[in-house]
Amino acid sequence: AMSLSGKSCLVTGAASGIGRATARELARDGARLVAADIDAAGLEALTEELEAEGRTVVSVAGDVSDDADVRNMVNSALDAYGRLDVAVANAGILPLSDLLGTSEQDWDRVMAVDGKGMFLTCKHAIAAMHRRGDGGAVVCVSSISGLAGQARQAAYGPAKFVATGLTKHLAVEWAPHGIRVNAVAPGTIRTERVLALRDEPGGPAYLATVSAAHPLGRLGEPAEVAAAIAFLASDAASFITGVVLPVDGGYLAQ
Ligand code: NAD
Repeated sequence: AMSLSGKSCLVTGAASGIGRATARELARDGARLVAADIDAAGLEALTEELEAEGRTVVSVAGDVSDDADVRNMVNSALDAYGRLDVAVANAGILPLSDLLGTSEQDWDRVMAVDGKGMFLTCKHAIAAMHRRGDGGAVVCVSSISGLAGQARQAAYGPAKFVATGLTKHLAVEWAPHGIRVNAVAPGTIRTERVLALRDEPGGPAYLATVSAAHPLGRLGEPAEVAAAIAFLASDAASFITGVVLPVDGGYLAQ
């Protein structure tokens, strides 16, 4: 059974897109949820929605690139539920820029959020799971850009390779402690941010090209990524660790 019933689950970047879909999926599967994001207003909207459905959720505002903030996210789970069973390291920024258009500051920012943020979330979540000593599961949100090269992702793409690398290395390091570490590698997903490209110059043509690049012939839905994350987080995946699961409509099969 794929139940997350009663499990204490932290989702970072829960206010929007894939993180929000994941928060909904886990909460509806019966998880006790900690929703974390830098966007406090977005978190409030999510929390109201889930509480209206009778779900168990606490929210915590913070920046995943800040060590103290990430500790606070994990401690919120321990304070509210006494334990942490699952962490979904999802928060990220998605700048598109080619090599010559990427400044040193651009590089540092995406590495801080998408790189270091993933490290800090894994570190503090796994530390809490290890202290309790009865296992746990981490799911990192990487990307097809964390497994293969693409144009105009000179900083974002390498930052998503951090998620892929952490997944494999930490899976091996923590397997003896019963802590599983997996990742999803979404193709292009119909989040607000991606849909906003419709209003940018060249955006509609770009979206059409991107859709066609996925063999299933469309963009993915946030809920389709959330379903894969919920599976990897659940006991249904109890013998799966260190995998990076594409959720990409066949993009990487080509
Ligand atoms: P999104 O912008 O809709 O959501 C990202 C969330 O993260 C937002 O709520 C944002 O406020 C939050 N966030 C940003 N910086 C933060 C920080 N420093 N600390 C805490 N929270 C922060 O984006 P999304 O498309 O849902 O992306 C979520 C994840 O999925 C990212 O890791 C992204 O790289 C990955 N991804 C997205 C796609 C896609 O096509 N949308 C494809 C592959 C991978």
